[in-house]
Amino acid sequence: MERPRNPLARRRLLKTAAALPAVLLAGSAGPAFAGRAETRRRPDADWVPAAPGNYTVANRPREYPVDFVVIHVTQETYADTLGIFQNPAKKVSAHYVVRSADGHVAQCVREADVAWHAGNWDYNTRSIGIEHEGWVDQPEYFTDELYSASAALTAAVCDSYAVPRTRAHIIGHHEVPGATHTDPGPLWDWDRYIELVQAA
Ligand SMILES: [Zn+2]
Repeated sequence: MERPRNPLARRRLLKTAAALPAVLLAGSAGPAFAGRAETRRRPDADWVPAAPGNYTVANRPREYPVDFVVIHVTQETYADTLGIFQNPAKKVSAHYVVRSADGHVAQCVREADVAWHAGNWDYNTRSIGIEHEGWVDQPEYFTDELYSASAALTAAVCDSYAVPRTRAHIIGHHEVPGATHTDPGPLWDWDRYIELVQAA
């Protein structure tokens, strides 16, 4: 996906000022985060931390703005994906993994930290990565439960960082510049997903 550089940079400047109060507000008023010491852990997600060598400790959104949610499909089972993120040899992680059968959500990396999911450092620093259990050519894994739980999560993330709930900011891994991955693939129902995010 091609984006003009200047409008993005300009918008980012504007948003840095706007995003911080939204986060602080969410932390004090809503169910958004478990607490300051835990820096961006969502209490409704199961905490299954990735190995410390599989992500970069940061202080977002102060250090980097959060502009995108990146949608992935695991090409692995839910359990194997968590195992991969816990294996320091793999050098990969995502903030969240959503289970196909019931929409159960695991959080593996704090949102303040930079997960290694997009294959692009700039996009990693500016995004939250959500993995969905399944395979790009097996849409039966994209259950109602998975879509619904993921959409609620994405909506909450967007609200926390003042990210618009639009397709321009909720992108597929394949749309990250330089991406070699094709997920979530053509069978991911984007219209339905964005509709659910906007309704959540
Ligand atoms: Zn991916």
